[in-house]
Amino acid sequence: MLKAILLYLSRQKGIQDFMLNFGVTRKVVNRFVSGERMEDGLVAVKKVNSEGAIATLDHLGEETSEPEEAKAAAGVYLNALDLINENQADTNVSVKPTQVGLKIDKKLCEENFARIIERAKEYNNFVRMDMEGSDCTQDTLDVFYSLREKYDNFGIVIQTYLYRSEKDVEDILKAGGRIRLCKGAYKEPKEIAFQRKQEVDDNFVKLMKRMLKSGIYHGIATHDENIIKKTKDFAGENNIPRESFEFQLLYGIRTELQHQLVREGYKVRIYIPFGMQWYPYFMRRLAERPANLFFFLKNFLRA
Ligand SMILES: Cc1cc2nc3c(=O)[nH]c(=O)nc-3n(C[C@H](O)[C@H](O)[C@H](O)COP(=O)(O)OP(=O)(O)OC[C@H]3O[C@@H](n4cnc5c(N)ncnc54)[C@H](O)[C@@H]3O)c2cc1C
Repeated sequence: MLKAILLYLSRQKGIQDFMLNFGVTRKVVNRFVSGERMEDGLVAVKKVNSEGAIATLDHLGEETSEPEEAKAAAGVYLNALDLINENQADTNVSVKPTQVGLKIDKKLCEENFARIIERAKEYNNFVRMDMEGSDCTQDTLDVFYSLREKYDNFGIVIQTYLYRSEKDVEDILKAGGRIRLCKGAYKEPKEIAFQRKQEVDDNFVKLMKRMLKSGIYHGIATHDENIIKKTKDFAGENNIPRESFEFQLLYGIRTELQHQLVREGYKVRIYIPFGMQWYPYFMRRLAERPANLFFFLKNFLRA
């Protein structure tokens, strides 16, 4: 119930504007967001790199409604890729399709992604298309398949709470695509998505096994120790080398687990967001763990 309310609030523009103008929230937000500037993101990447992990840099923003705004958002990623290269930072980038125009025009979104992917190719780098709410799933996949005809230095995300994901994984693997597997962070109805944690987790494990067996390099994105253990066990039992997949975790979440996986010799990528538009991202992190909400409220009331 609380989760549903927080996910509903994450889509309310009025509250976003209020929060963005209310400096007190920064302290709590900083736990999940590296900072407002690209340089802040880069500092966080360098720190993560020095600890033996790699990263993916995300410029916060979604649901862009003007073509110029979508084009400018893609421009930020071009600059980020230049900066990453100049600084020899070990990170790729993650981009939300609606930030670069998915809800304005699919073609525009594809063009913007093509610009980012081409720039990444110049630097031998990689672009991840994040996956958003189910109203975007098919359009995101359409853009993905269309771009696959031309590029291979990019990948997509699959959410294990969706019933359709098993079929999507099969299709993407057939196309040779690289997948980040995650549980899914949005509120989805029972007609299209598993509602019980156990079902989402079981589907995760099932799809993880299918992906690891494919011989394609994928990302297993979770903080769930049970699933991480099952992934390690499956890889070990099937002689799947540790270098042939990576674990992915979010900045500021289960940091000790991140370090432990690095110590054990696994490849670990940290998703590092930066930027001003932190509100929806932050609210989804609160929704994932009610304890975060109490931490937030405590600091909010103290101010
Ligand atoms: C690298 C990465 C990229 C992602 N990209 C996408 C995407 O493109 N699209 C999408 O829909 N979702 C994405 N997600 C979010 C994902 O779908 C889940 O919502 C999120 O990871 C929480 O699920 P979990 O697998 O960690 O398992 P859970 O069962 O939710 O959590 C397992 C444990 O992890 C810890 N934990 C989890 N979340 C939090 C939190 N917010 N704060 C503190 N502790 C927490 C808790 O200890 C919890 O018990 C991404 C997640 C990661 C790690």
